[in-house]
Amino acid sequence: AAKENGKASWSRFAPEMRQEIVEHVRLGGELHEALERDQLYLEYQPIVDLDTRRLVGAEALVRWRHPEQGLIPPGQFIPVAERTGLIVPLGRWVLRQACRQLAAWRDEYGTSALYTVGVNVAARQLGEPGFTGDVAAALRDAGLAPHRLVIEVTESSVLNARQVLKTLHELHRLGVKLALDDFGTRQSSLGLLRAFPVDILKLDKSFVDGIEDGQDDERLAVAAAVAQMAAALRLDAVAEGIESAAQVERLRPLGYRLGQGFHLARPLAAERVAELLVESDFSLAGPETTP
Ligand code: C2E
Ligand code: MG
Ligand code: MG
Ligand code: MG
Repeated sequence: AAKENGKASWSRFAPEMRQEIVEHVRLGGELHEALERDQLYLEYQPIVDLDTRRLVGAEALVRWRHPEQGLIPPGQFIPVAERTGLIVPLGRWVLRQACRQLAAWRDEYGTSALYTVGVNVAARQLGEPGFTGDVAAALRDAGLAPHRLVIEVTESSVLNARQVLKTLHELHRLGVKLALDDFGTRQSSLGLLRAFPVDILKLDKSFVDGIEDGQDDERLAVAAAVAQMAAALRLDAVAEGIESAAQVERLRPLGYRLGQGFHLARPLAAERVAELLVESDFSLAGPETTP
C-alpha cells in the first residue's frame, strides 16, 4: 500500500513540479561528484568598517562551477545539499578551506588585515553531534585562533533543537564567534538572544533595501531596533546588502559601524582579496571609486 501511495502522490505532482524534483535529484547526484572533483570554490565578501572603509573580515560564500551549466549560485544547491545530507561533508570542506585561507592571508600579510572569516552553517550541520569536533580540527589544522572564525547561523536553524543549543555552547567555549545571519526576518526575541551565546547580529538586507527613501519607514525602525538591541547586549551589528552610499548615510547614525554589500565590495575570488591586502592602504573605495 505504501508503494501505491508513493506512486499515487508522485503522479499528483504537476509536471513543472515533477521536473523540479527530477532536477533536484540530478543536482544532488552531481553535487556529490562536484565535491570530489574540485568544482566547488569559495568567494570572500569583505566586511567593512563604515568609517575607515577598512576590511575587518570576510564572509566565505560557496560557488559551484558546473562543467555544463556554468556557475550555480548557492541558493540553488545548498537547499539540495541540505535535503540529501551532503551539506555535512560540503560544509566541512567549506569550513576547512575558509580557515586555511584566512591563515594563509595572515601569514602573508600580517594579523591586522582581515581579522575574521565568516562561514555559513546550515541547521543540519549544527545538529550533527561531531560538529564542534570538526570545527576544532579545522582550526587546529589551519593553525588559526578560534576567535578569528565566525560561524553564521540563521535564527530558524537554532530554534527548538537541544543538540543545536548544546553545539552553540560548545562552540562558544571553544572561543569561536557566533553570528545570527539574516537577522530580523524570523521571530526573534530578547529571550532567544540571551539563551544563545551570540556575538554578532547581521541585519538582513531586506531592512537595508530602500532605507534611504522613507523617513517613517518600518524598515528604518527595525534597523534602529536591531542596532539598539545589539548595543544593549554588547554585540556587534553588521548591516548586510548595502548597495548605495545613501544607505551607509542612513545606517551609520543608527549605530552600524560595520557593513557588507555590493556598494562596499562584491564577493571576491581569494586572489582578488590578496590584491587588496598587498596595497599598503587597502581601505576600500568610498562612493566615488566603487565600481
Ligand atoms: P547569506 O549568508 O546571507 O550571504 C549573503 C548573500 O547576499 C550572498 O549571496 C551575497 O553575495 C549576497 N549579497 C551581499 N551583498 C549584497 C548586495 O549588496 N546586494 C545583493 N543583491 N546581494 C548581496 P550568495 O553568495 O548567493 O549566497 C546566498 C546564501 O547561500 C547565503 O546567504 C547563505 O545563506 C548561503 N550560503 C552561501 N555559502 C554557503 C555555505 O558555504 N554554506 C551554507 N550552509 N550556506 C551558504
Ligand atoms: Mg551569511
Ligand atoms: Mg546574510
Ligand atoms: Mg541573507
